Amino acid sequence: MAIELFNTLSGKIEEFRPLDDNLVRMYACGPTVYDYGHIGNFRTYVVVDTLRRFLKQSGYKLKHVMNITDVDDKIIRNAARDGVTVQQYTARYRKAFLEDADALNIEHPEMLVNATDHIQEMAHFIAILRDKGYAYATEDGSYYFRIANFPEYGKLSKKDFSGMEDGARVDVDEYEKDNARDFALWKAPKPGEAQWDTEIGPGRPGWHIECSTMSMQYLGDTFDIHLGGEDLIFPHHENEIAQSEAKTGKAFAHFWVHSRFLLVEGEKMSKKLGNFYTVRDLVLMGHKPSSIRFLLMSVPHSKQLNFTFDGLTQAANSVERLRNFKLRLETTPWPEGANPGVRDLAEHASAEMTAALSDNLNTARALGAMFDLVRDVNAAADAGEVRKDDIAHLLKALAQFDEIFAVLKDDDAGKIRGIVDWAQSEGLQEKITAAAADLAKAAAMSDQDVERLVAEHSEARKARNFARSDEIRKQLADNGIILENTKDGVRWKRK
Ligand SMILES: [Zn+2]
Repeated sequence: MAIELFNTLSGKIEEFRPLDDNLVRMYACGPTVYDYGHIGNFRTYVVVDTLRRFLKQSGYKLKHVMNITDVDDKIIRNAARDGVTVQQYTARYRKAFLEDADALNIEHPEMLVNATDHIQEMAHFIAILRDKGYAYATEDGSYYFRIANFPEYGKLSKKDFSGMEDGARVDVDEYEKDNARDFALWKAPKPGEAQWDTEIGPGRPGWHIECSTMSMQYLGDTFDIHLGGEDLIFPHHENEIAQSEAKTGKAFAHFWVHSRFLLVEGEKMSKKLGNFYTVRDLVLMGHKPSSIRFLLMSVPHSKQLNFTFDGLTQAANSVERLRNFKLRLETTPWPEGANPGVRDLAEHASAEMTAALSDNLNTARALGAMFDLVRDVNAAADAGEVRKDDIAHLLKALAQFDEIFAVLKDDDAGKIRGIVDWAQSEGLQEKITAAAADLAKAAAMSDQDVERLVAEHSEARKARNFARSDEIRKQLADNGIILENTKDGVRWKRK
């Protein structure tokens, strides 16, 4: 089935085909590591992860590059404020970004590249733009891109810049819409700021040139997909196109995929409004990483996502429902035989999930297909209509689902434990809620420890030694393990 994606550049839904046979070359703008990532950032990374997982599931090979922006205005300002080097300042946030991505089961790209490892290449890129007449130096040794020489400027953001003032300049990395100015490629050194010696003189790169340089270095002049949040369309991505296409005279990225904004409880997230959350904040409040991932994925990237605490609770219930379904399939002693009707349900859900994700990554529709399956099969199981041979088909549909959604594995406790430990080591004890501490407890026991105690619990009950079985139940509960008695025996899970 053809994959269709909305391409911001063409303004249309288009059928996706890689330029080079079976290999998809894609670039996603990574984090600027000056602080802990917030859930709006992570929504975009989850969207990128959804696309990469679905492309792989569809049989493509991937070469996915993500940058780490470890030098920019904010980083330099904060490093100077704290009296540390840029490298010292960014190291902790780079590490935190990767830990948070791991907590949300976001796969690592094939290449993760640091801006500061590519400064000479960036300077060389700028030298080429200068030699072609697209870049000019100012008296202090800074370089700017002359947008008047690139008439297609505005083609991604669909802005008309025909009335712009030639030669007006902006030297900050991020600026307001409708403010088309020649933008900084290279910034001359300022006292106390990080600087590098290069063929175009001393200084440091602007933000936009980082992504053009690193994407083209690893993916070639023209590649398949460029991704990012919608806030990057202008100026960042518009500027990337201008720099890259001015340099090569060729198309830069074929597909531009952007995820829409995230709102929190209906409002724009901001520190001022007090509705600004990092992944760590939410975990310390007692929310599981799997619930956060599920909520971030539940609304397709083409729509705004309203992140609410009700939604987070519902997401936790949905994940629980899916995990219970899998546990039921795996632990029930199903009667021999097969029911072709159940197999049909599994195959229908599987086809519908593929169709949904091929439809511009419609994750909501894919989830709908999965929950229809859960509902129908639970009903069939309650009616005694599910047979042993049906289970493999159902588990296959679940596995297909989880290759993309990645929420079935019950590994939240260990991740929560890690974040609780981090908060303790940072002196943030007051942020650790009882709910988070409680969830973290379930990481203390290995699966084997739990299995052993569960077996001992069953033996004790059989021997009518209820004092011992109650003792074990309590010991497990104290460690965040819940025992459930079903008609087929005892099942356990973490809180
Ligand atoms: Zn970028």
